[in-house]
Amino acid sequence: MGIKKIIEYPRDEEALRRESKPVRVVNRRIKKLVRSLKDTLMDRPEGVGLAAVQINIHSRVFVVRLGAKVGSNDDTKLGPPVAIINAEILEAKNEEEGFDGCLSFPGLFGDTKRPTFIRVKGLDEWGKPFEKIYEGFDAVVIHHEIDHMDGVLFIDRVESVEKLYTVKENEEGNLVKTPMSIG
Ligand SMILES: [Zn+2]
Repeated sequence: MGIKKIIEYPRDEEALRRESKPVRVVNRRIKKLVRSLKDTLMDRPEGVGLAAVQINIHSRVFVVRLGAKVGSNDDTKLGPPVAIINAEILEAKNEEEGFDGCLSFPGLFGDTKRPTFIRVKGLDEWGKPFEKIYEGFDAVVIHHEIDHMDGVLFIDRVESVEKLYTVKENEEGNLVKTPMSIG
């Protein structure tokens, strides 16, 4: 059975699928957008990244919190939200399969293959150009957000239904993975 049949797509799928346009000038409008993305992300401790497209604004802007560890619920070690504008991947390697999820798909998780080393260029929130290397889960998070710029969703990278799951708290308060394929 295909993934499309088993999961419920968000109501704003059409907006999520639309490609975002490059930012020409980091003006007041963009700064306001960065502010509201940061505020929204900080309100969702379960999330480490948020793209403008997820709040229905089609500009190539996203915010991420770096330093996340897979399987950890401790968000106190996460960095403050950082904005990246017009991100472009210059180099991507060391692909690994691992944990993925998205604030636009609450409660749904999956294993995706993504690079754990990426070299990216873009603009910071003040419009200053930069080039930077991200590794490990930080690279995965940035790659996920850059996908959003092009209307690509994490479920597109989940190869089979068996690699899709929900996470629920059991009676002992532990988080347990439940595969979608039997759920
Ligand atoms: Zn996402």
